[in-house]
Amino acid sequence: MAAGEKLGYSQCTLCGYQVVIRENKRGLAYYSCEDCGCQHLARGPDSDRLMRGRITMPVAAAPGASSDDPAQAPEGGDDEFII
Ligand SMILES: [Zn+2]
Repeated sequence: MAAGEKLGYSQCTLCGYQVVIRENKRGLAYYSCEDCGCQHLARGPDSDRLMRGRITMPVAAAPGASSDDPAQAPEGGDDEFII
């Protein structure tokens, strides 16, 4: 996993603003809050685990990350099955 890669979204522990939790080059989680300007980073496996546990929405599940196929609108009159 590359450094700076997004892990998921959480809330800033100080102000509640939505932040992006990323992974640094040591493989530890961190985030910077754009609203209040604080920065939190894990210094070891325990804080890394706790910070990852605060992720409320993984990046993979975030809007825009998935490619939803457009719904296939059924054509009228084709809903009867002829056996
Ligand atoms: Zn904040």
